[in-house]
Amino acid sequence: MAIQKQAFLRKTVAAAAVAASLLGGLASVPTLSFAQDASAAAKAAADATAKAAKPNVVVLATGGTIAGAGASSVNSATYAAAKVPVDKLLAGLPELSNYANVKGEQVFQIASESFTNDNLVTLAKRVSQLVKQPDVDGIVVTHGTDTLAETAYFLSLTVHTDKPIVVIGSMRPGTALSADGALNLVDAVSVAGSQDAKGKGVFVTMNDEIQTARDVNKDVNIKTGAFQSQWGPLGMVVEGKNYWFRAPVKRHTNQSEFNIDSIDKLPQVDIVYAYGNVQPTAVNALVDSGAKAIIHAGTGNGSVADRMVKPLQDARGKGVLIVRASRVPYGFVLRNAEQPDDKYDWVVAHDMRPEKARILTMLALTKGAASTKDLQRMFWEY
Ligand code: ASP
Repeated sequence: MAIQKQAFLRKTVAAAAVAASLLGGLASVPTLSFAQDASAAAKAAADATAKAAKPNVVVLATGGTIAGAGASSVNSATYAAAKVPVDKLLAGLPELSNYANVKGEQVFQIASESFTNDNLVTLAKRVSQLVKQPDVDGIVVTHGTDTLAETAYFLSLTVHTDKPIVVIGSMRPGTALSADGALNLVDAVSVAGSQDAKGKGVFVTMNDEIQTARDVNKDVNIKTGAFQSQWGPLGMVVEGKNYWFRAPVKRHTNQSEFNIDSIDKLPQVDIVYAYGNVQPTAVNALVDSGAKAIIHAGTGNGSVADRMVKPLQDARGKGVLIVRASRVPYGFVLRNAEQPDDKYDWVVAHDMRPEKARILTMLALTKGAASTKDLQRMFWEY
């Protein structure tokens, strides 16, 4: 494309020079300015053609380390997140224009550990509006890495589109040596604008890997290869080209029964963490504070301490949904194995981490008082 553009420009300038020589009787200054005008017009036309050939990607910025700044280049872990505005991030990366026409929008400027349910709803609604626009081909969300996987899963469950949505962050601020945000952002824009990513849902593309939002989690808190999935990435993005090896099999985006366009508020769902000597204090307090569901992050295969069974049964008796997840990052919780879920009317979170089980359970509750049968079906299907 660049070579064709240069050849086109050369031809246009040459044509202008011929025209100028034919007009030999005229003074040299107007002749030169005619050539310059023709050249400028040709360049503008070539630029417009190149722009029209590229996809349009909107970058929605929410903060995090990718917008962070440290005091010096050796500060890879000590820095302030959510400082650099999106326009500055994009202006520092002229490489983005190799892949797409990129526009930035600052949705929030926060560290992702401070994300709230309202932030999730606001962001997803904006993504949903944008993907409906014919002049938008893909979306990138820049995000802090701490809760990035939760937001990506939320978007994959609630935004109806076949346009690629890519959520990314960085593990090091842009001011640090070997900062990873720049390449993560370039990769994300290239994936968001690519045809072969369409219909495959929401991605997290960090460290050159293309991960599906459902499966990926932040598994390491200090390395650039922080985002992993126990089922493996879908593929890789290298120098603007996608290499696919798997496809998501669970319901997402267009096949989802949830739609952010009809969701304005998310219900209170909380997590209780299991550990040796755990006591029912947290469960009881959450029930009293109005939780509609409790995700129990159990030990092992979602095990529940003997003294916790009754308080959880009592909570269920009051209408609170109980979801058995595990604090163990890999594997999946088996129904009726560690606890008689059928008898207690509990649900298992399958392979969902407790924090992602919270996301799906909140969405289930937006449909009204979800039955445990329905919620269990959702954990198998999404
Ligand atoms: N605490 C930061 C955040 O989630 C970490 C990061 O972005 O990597 O916003």
